[in-house]
Parts: sequence; C-alpha cells; structure tokens
Amino acid sequence: MSESKIRYEKKTVYEKAGEAIVKLAYDYAQGYVRFLDASKTEREAVSESIGLAEAAGYRPYHFGDPLKPGDKRYYNNRGKNLFLFRIGTEPINNGIRITGAHIDSPRLDLKQNPVFEDGDLCYFKTHYYGGIRKYQWLAMPLALHGVVVKQNGETVTLSIGENESDPVMYITDLLPHLAQKENGKTVADAFPAERLNILIGSRPAKEAEKEAVKEGVLRYLNETYGITEEDFQSAELSIVPAGRARDVGFDRSMICGYGHDDRCCAYPSLTAMIDADEKLHTTMCTLVDKEETGSDGVTGAQSSIVVDLIAEIARALGGNEAEVRANSKCLSSDVAAIFDPAFPDVFEKNNAALLGCGVAMCKFTGSRGKSGTSDTTAQLVAWVRRFLNEAGVVWQTCELGKVDIGGGGTIAKYMANQNIDTLDLGVGVLSMHAPYEIISKVDLYESYRAFRAFYNFQ
Ligand code: MN
Ligand code: MN
Repeated sequence: MSESKIRYEKKTVYEKAGEAIVKLAYDYAQGYVRFLDASKTEREAVSESIGLAEAAGYRPYHFGDPLKPGDKRYYNNRGKNLFLFRIGTEPINNGIRITGAHIDSPRLDLKQNPVFEDGDLCYFKTHYYGGIRKYQWLAMPLALHGVVVKQNGETVTLSIGENESDPVMYITDLLPHLAQKENGKTVADAFPAERLNILIGSRPAKEAEKEAVKEGVLRYLNETYGITEEDFQSAELSIVPAGRARDVGFDRSMICGYGHDDRCCAYPSLTAMIDADEKLHTTMCTLVDKEETGSDGVTGAQSSIVVDLIAEIARALGGNEAEVRANSKCLSSDVAAIFDPAFPDVFEKNNAALLGCGVAMCKFTGSRGKSGTSDTTAQLVAWVRRFLNEAGVVWQTCELGKVDIGGGGTIAKYMANQNIDTLDLGVGVLSMHAPYEIISKVDLYESYRAFRAFYNFQ
C-alpha cells in the first residue's frame, strides 16, 4: 500500500471534490438561504418544510392510517415538530433510515407579562432561550416572531421587523463614555439577563390615565392585531435578529445567518429525504423542537411521539415495533464547532472540525469523561464511512473543543436511548449560537450529499 493510502489526511472539499461539486454547492445554498430566511422559529420551519414536502407529493398522516410501499406522508406535531416518512418495499422489520435535526434556535422569548414602561420608554421583558452570550444581542436591529393565542382559540401570527418598511426592535447598550466601571466587570456580571429589555415605543398616548407610552403601545397592538395585554400570557413570542442571511467573503464561500444551528442540518436532511430516489428502505426525516433547552416536552426529541410514530408505522405494515427500532439507523444531524483561529486555545486541532473540510462526524458528544453521551458503536461508524466514501462525500471527524474545556449534546442520545443506532453527522459552524452564525457552502452541500447517500445506500 502506498504511503498516501495508509495515512489519513484531512483535505478540503475544494481539493477533494472538484469544481463541479463546488458549483452545485453554491447553487444549493440559494435554496437554503430562502429556507433560512423564512424559518426563524420552529413554527415557521415546520410550515416551510410542509410546503416543500407537499410540493414533492407528501400528504398528512393520521394515527391508524393504512400504509403501503411508496406512500409519502408527513406528521405535523403541534406545528412545532415535523416527521416526513416514505414507506419502502423491503420488510419494515429491516428498520427505518432516520435523520434527526432540530429547528429551534437560541433567541430571546418574551416573558408572559412582558410590557413595561420606564423613563418614558416602553419595553418587552425577555427570558433567553438556549445558550447565548448575552452581550451579542445588544445594539442591533431585532424582529418579533411568534403566535398569540386568544382565549377563544384564535391564533394571531406575528412577524414584525423583516420587511424593509417594518419597524424593528432594539436592546440598548451603555455608551463608552460612561462604561469605565462596567468595563472592569466580568462578561457574566456585566450583562445580566434582566437587562435584555426590548425597546418598543417612546410616544405617549393622548388622554392616558397612567404610563402613557405603554398605553400607546397597547392601543396600537389592540387596533392592529386585536390583542390585549392579557393575551401575552398565552403567547409564544420570540425576539430574533432582523434581516436576511448573506454571503460572506470575496469568494462568497460562506453564509452568515440567524439559526444555522440547526437549520443548516434540517434543510439538507429534508431535501435529501425528498430527493432520495432509492425505493427499498423506509426512510424518515425528523425535525424536532426544544433541542436548545434539553429536548424535553411534547415537541422535543424525548417526546414519546418518536416511538409512537415508529410503532404505528410498524403496526400498519405488519411489523414488530421493537424489531423495527433495533434494526433502524439514525443520523442525528446537528452542527459541529469549527476550529476558530481567533480562539485556538479551546480546540484540539487534530480532532476539531475545519471549515470547508466537509460534513462533520461526531462519534460522541458530552463533556468531561464523555458524560451524557450515547457514544456510537464502531460498527455504525464503519458502516457510515463506507457509504460516505462510496458516494465520494467529503467528511471529517471532530469533537466539540478540548477535553475539559466545555461540552455539549445533541438529540443523538435520545434516539439511541430508544434502541436506535445513532451517529452525529452535520455541518460545522463558526460563532455558534451568535445572532449571526457562519457556515461554509461546501460543508452544507456535503451534508446534503451525505444524507442522500444514507437514504439511498443498499
Ligand atoms: Mn444544535
Ligand atoms: Mn445549539
């Protein structure tokens, strides 16, 4: 064997895959950016995904529906969690090829009693969702997305701050002239969560009995959207960065946008599911909510909906639920941390994902002594290597930073806990969890090619 064959060397997609793939990657990124801009919350991501699925012939599934090979169905769980599946021709007991990505992203949620006035200014109080570095959200244009459900069940859907003519929202920051004392604080002390208040008005209402600016805001919301202050208590409203994803770099090789984590994996797994042409295997694309807060709740990866759905599919096809899960394979598609030359100390370079080096595989997540990991079997990793290499997909392995520096998890362990062999495979991100994160177009495309190969591999 030649030296080049016995050594493992990481190379970029540009070196390994060639011009044609790079061109396809740039084209593919356009569809992704459209999806990303239209999907700033999990609810928006579900409705965008249903649009793409229906255009490809997928129809709603209800528990108890009969199923047969060739059927393409989707199950919409409360508008925040979506499953697509296609029934294959082989026996269902051979298992299901599953991909799982999450469609929630770090953000600032409104508190249930959010509106207050201080210093003749009106604000929303927020409660941050997921892991954020709080200072990153100050002094930038922000948008409001979400739903208000009135007592009578009527839902008012809001998206304010995305159109050029929309107003935006904003969190103020301290002027440097008066920041001498603040500058001496630690980052954790200098940016308390209770200061992340959203500026939403400054003009007093006429003939207001008290808090005239707040009165003006409430009157506007009532006249425009028919909502009252109490309606906020049954609302899910989120503050996200206003504006669209953009190309980054003179070579336009990267994209900065809000919510790459984890829509840069959700979109490739969804489009790979739709585009996969192999008819043998039953395949499933899972888009879950609540990953950023621990995957709990009815729409998270720990919800029994995952096993309920697999059980119903097994039953409808005359299979055995336990055997179906035991023989299923899942790619948990979540983002990886890319080596950042600005912060080399937190990465171990031999085992860090590098931008542009393809889809990133993580055998285990967790922290310290692999705490909280499902640690994939070497057998599954070998099987995945085989279909990736046979399909010519450019891939790399990685860990999330140096041992004992920090850590993180994905939905992999919740799938694995259901006796489904699961491996993390996804796109690397720079500035993860920042209002605008960065990914590489070629990494995005390699993840699409990887999921397609997974669905298609015999
Ligand atoms: Mn994630
Ligand atoms: Mn995350």
